[in-house]
Order: sequence, then C-alpha cells, then structure tokens
Amino acid sequence: MNILLLGPPGAGKGTQAKRLEERYGMVQLSTGDMLRAERASGSALGKQVQAIMDAGKLVSDDIMIALIASQIAGLKDKGFILDGFPRTVPQAEALDVMLKKNGITLDHVIELTVDEEVLVDRISGRFSCKKCGASYHDRYHQPKQAGICEVCGNTEFIRRPDDNAETVKARLAAYHQQTQPILPYYRTTGVLSSVDGMAEIDEVTRQIEAILNKSKG
Ligand code: AMP
Repeated sequence: MNILLLGPPGAGKGTQAKRLEERYGMVQLSTGDMLRAERASGSALGKQVQAIMDAGKLVSDDIMIALIASQIAGLKDKGFILDGFPRTVPQAEALDVMLKKNGITLDHVIELTVDEEVLVDRISGRFSCKKCGASYHDRYHQPKQAGICEVCGNTEFIRRPDDNAETVKARLAAYHQQTQPILPYYRTTGVLSSVDGMAEIDEVTRQIEAILNKSKG
C-alpha cells in the first residue's frame, strides 16, 4: 500500500509515518529527513540546501523531484509513506508522472488537519531520538524514563534548527502559499481523506488505520 501524508509542519506526519512503518512494514519517505541526512554528511547537496531550510523556505522542485525519483522505483513491492513530498503543484505533477511510469498507484492521501494557533507551541518544544528518530516533546510527550528513548533505548536526542518560532512562521507561510494548492487535485481523484491531527497521537493512528483498513475490505 502506498500512502501520502499531507498537513502543515507540526501536524504529526513524521510521527504517524514512523508508526505506520513499524506496523505495516511500509517505508517512510521523508524528504525533510533525506535533506537533513545530506546536511549531516556534509555533501554538496547538503551545503546547497542548508540556508534555505534554516530560513523555512522550500528547496527547489528540481532537487526534490530528483531526490524522490531516486527512491520510488525501488519501493514498488514494499509500499511507502510519503511524508513532506509533494509540497508544490509541480512536485505533485512530477510525482504523478513517476508513479505512472513505474506502474504504482497512491492508495490514500491523508490530510492531518490542525489548529494552526497551536503549531508554534507544538513545534518549538519538539525533539527526537538521534538514533531512531522517535519524536518527543518537552511538554506533551517526554520519554517514559527521562533521557532514554522509549523505542530504541538510545540516550542522545536532537532538536531541529528550523524548529523555532520565527522559522515556523515562514514554514507555515510556505505551506499556505505553495502546498495547500495541491489539495484540490487529490480531492478530485477521490483518494483524499482528512484526519483530526489535534486528537491524541494514538487516536490519530487509529483514525488513519481505519482509513487504511477500509480499502482492504
Ligand atoms: P520537513 O522535515 O518535512 O518539515 O522539511 C524540512 C525542510 O526541508 C522544509 O522546511 C524545506 O526547507 C525542506 N523540504 C522538505 N521537503 C521538501 C519538499 N518536498 N520541497 C521543498 N522543500 C522541502
């Protein structure tokens, strides 16, 4: 099964994608994680995108489309969860072409809806496990044992440099101006469902699973 998760920064796409990955064996394709890995490796691409990401702006379509194109064909049999791509109309169009070329269909596009007033608060407190990427939050979701990742037991955590109030505002503006316009397209193709991203994390997962299970029956 192939899924696309949509929603503004902080809606919970990454958290939910990781859960689906664990439960169903699909592969999470997070373009944000891919770019962060490029930066950490010190590659030319990493250096090229650094300033754009730190400003909360979008990396060029050419770069993003090439990044996804290099991954998607190999995942035909496993299934994937797209998290953070497409983010613009040209990216959505390119994705369509790529999928058709590889004989792949998107089974579900799931939009996580959130009250944007809480997003700055949600995002500015978040951190994740350096090893497995599990997400936590200073106020809403601390690891059960302080300082120890619940998923893998690692004790090192990281915070994203773009998870600060000012950059979040730029990321939200990019979402409104460049990403929201892709929603009507998926609405017309009939694969779009919305889930209340303000619910508890487990409840959001349940709602997503209900959508996925509907298509099996
Ligand atoms: P994310 O982890 O999805 O919030 O992405 C972090 C940052 O990576 C974004 O603010 C953008 O600068 C960049 N980025 C990730 N995915 C894309 C994309 N599909 N198109 C353009 N820029 C992206």
